[in-house]
Amino acid sequence: MAQFAPCPNCASTEADKQVFTWWGGLIGPALLTHVKCKSCGTTYNGKSGKSNNKAIAIYFAVIFGLFVIPCIAIQILIALN
Ligand SMILES: [Zn+2]
Repeated sequence: MAQFAPCPNCASTEADKQVFTWWGGLIGPALLTHVKCKSCGTTYNGKSGKSNNKAIAIYFAVIFGLFVIPCIAIQILIALN
C-alpha cells in the first residue's frame, strides 16, 4: 500500500514525510504534504505527486507579506516619529 503519491523524478512510492523545513518550519511541510523520496532524495507533494516548488514560493511570499512587511512598516513608522 503506497502511503504517498509516486516520486515525480523516479516514480518510487517510498517517501518520508518531512516534519520540519527551513522554508516552512513545522507548518509549511504539513500544509503542503511535503515528502522526500527515499530513492533519489527529491522533495515533492505526497498528495498530488507534483513538485512543491511553486507552492513553497507562494507560501514563502505569503509568510513574508504577513510578517516581514508589517514589521518593516512598523519600524519605519517608529523611526519617523
Ligand atoms: Zn525519487
